[in-house]
Amino acid sequence: MAKTDPGDLSRRILAGERRALARAITLVESRRDDHRAEAAELLDLLKPVGRTALRIGLSGTPGVGKSTFIESFGAMLTGQGLRVAVLAVDPSSARSGGSILGDKTRMERLSRDPGAFIRPSPSQTHLGGVARRTREAVALCEAAGFDAVLIETVGVGQSETVVAEMSDLFILLIAPAGGDELQGVKRGIMEIADMILVNKADGDLKAAAARTCADYSQALRLLRPRVQDLKGFPRAMTVSALAEDGLAEAWAGMQALADWRRDNGHWQARRAAQARHWFEEEVRQGLLARLHTQEPVRARMAALGEAVAEGAQSPVQAATEVLKLLAGGTG
Ligand code: GDP
Repeated sequence: MAKTDPGDLSRRILAGERRALARAITLVESRRDDHRAEAAELLDLLKPVGRTALRIGLSGTPGVGKSTFIESFGAMLTGQGLRVAVLAVDPSSARSGGSILGDKTRMERLSRDPGAFIRPSPSQTHLGGVARRTREAVALCEAAGFDAVLIETVGVGQSETVVAEMSDLFILLIAPAGGDELQGVKRGIMEIADMILVNKADGDLKAAAARTCADYSQALRLLRPRVQDLKGFPRAMTVSALAEDGLAEAWAGMQALADWRRDNGHWQARRAAQARHWFEEEVRQGLLARLHTQEPVRARMAALGEAVAEGAQSPVQAATEVLKLLAGGTG
């Protein structure tokens, strides 16, 4: 990639130029130091503009209908004249270099829609790296004037928490269940979801979807007594991404919750807490990176690892020595 002029790029992003946005996201995803510096300058230039989008986190297991939902839901929003960006946090790309999400053949209709912008998950070596790049990409999409940013993730491991931490609203997509058990949806996810959408409420699955929805409504009532949230949220609803049914209701619900949170200061508080979390996470990641990049520390880590494995030194003693070295002490 050629050298970038952050000033020029920022002007083009503010003008809503998609190519400029794509280029800027490539810049934030780069691991090269000069690109990181340009990206940081760019983000600094864009921040004071203060544009915000509704950030919607969306999670669900593979096959539940996430891409179908994003296609239909995204098309509905662009049909209303809204601009929609779709980003992804794919934990599998962090682990294997492969990807469950985000290959370009998904969401074909939306990818041709001039009101939409789709970007697959960055491939990084760890979830923290994917999260950082995605947070920056969200900020870029906001600056480019998008009204809604959908951040998609697969329902495995830590990725939901990571996505919830960068979203204003967090939506869990589930499929109709056969039995009366809650499909192994983890309690932790139930605790962060603002809305559970039971997808595939069409044809033969319609009745099962209604039952599943009732089960989840009850589970939400038990788990989440509505002390400080809007009446009715968190809420379970049925949708059919394929038949494009229930999408307008889901959107109305999202807007109602977002408006209520704005009016009551919860929105601002949530973003403030997220900004603080992001800052602390950056410090943590930076400290961790030093273990590998600072040569004396890296070498000492390796040597002490051996000593600990041989029983020559205790793990705690060895760790204390490394921490002193990191802090600039003599160890
Ligand atoms: P993802 O892996 O979560 O992105 O799921 P996909 O969007 O790829 O959908 C997985 C399968 O479920 C596909 O065969 C879709 O056609 C189907 N599917 C998605 N949404 C619906 C729906 O609303 N109703 C029905 N009946 N099938 C759906």
